[in-house]
Amino acid sequence: MSFSSEIKEELHRMPFHRECCLLSELAAFTQTSGSLGFLGGGRFTVTYQVENAGTARRLFRMLKEGLQLSPKLHVMEHRRLGGTRTCVLTVEEADAIHLLEVLDMMKTESDGRTTLTRTLPRPQLNKQCCRKAYLRGAFLGAGYMTSPEKSYHMEWVSEDDTLAQTLEKVLEKSEIPLHTEQRRSHTVAYVDSAQQIVDVLAMMGASQAVMEMENVRITRQIRGDANRAANCDIHNTGKIMTASEKQLAAIARLRAAKVLPTLPPTLREMAEARLAHPDLSLEELGNSLHPPLGKSGVNHRMRRLMALSESL
Ligand SMILES: [Zn+2]
Repeated sequence: MSFSSEIKEELHRMPFHRECCLLSELAAFTQTSGSLGFLGGGRFTVTYQVENAGTARRLFRMLKEGLQLSPKLHVMEHRRLGGTRTCVLTVEEADAIHLLEVLDMMKTESDGRTTLTRTLPRPQLNKQCCRKAYLRGAFLGAGYMTSPEKSYHMEWVSEDDTLAQTLEKVLEKSEIPLHTEQRRSHTVAYVDSAQQIVDVLAMMGASQAVMEMENVRITRQIRGDANRAANCDIHNTGKIMTASEKQLAAIARLRAAKVLPTLPPTLREMAEARLAHPDLSLEELGNSLHPPLGKSGVNHRMRRLMALSESL
């Protein structure tokens, strides 16, 4: 199962605690998946098209048990699209009017036509409980998340930018920045930082997904740290060898010029230590001395040896 489907399955099981939240989630569904169907004579239906059967069942229960409406559910098979299915829920006439009234998403145009407003009425987003419920509905209706093993990306796709605008307002309250981009005729809103995705999942109440995401994050971080450590080792080893090679060359010149035996004991000791241990770092070289010498002390003596060699 994809990570998206796992999140959705977890959201399908969330209980409906409060009527305010039920309305907010329904508003999100209406905004993302709802449309009006006209029957003539000013009569209309509200129709929801949902790909996921579990999501359709949740929506059905919200309409039926939450608002005591009688939605009709049927399944459309798309033979041409490789047998994919769309669940269609239809709320008819009086029910449709009641639904849009409680959601406050109906507008009567100046010519008397009824239209669906996709902009959410303010009260539905005032409370934190409702903002969380709205996020659940928006994700179930239009959300998608890439597997965190691959990359950190959560997105919502819609035909216009009202969804992105609402999401932006909702997430702003939790200081989660939302990005948007235009993909053909669709507006894509997305969050692409691991921490912010975890925050959104947590707000939606998808605690299992949060845990899975955290596990993946830890694994990815350990892997990243190991890679960085490996690169770091290669890098440092390279640096030690070149510095050490220069020091060895300098000491070799001093030895060839028979200068070594004439040096003060501290410098002579240093030169001998380097000749004996060409692959040690300055710090390790200092530790091999008796008594041990700090890195800066080793560095100082090594520079004097190099300077002497250059003066030859
Ligand atoms: Zn609420």
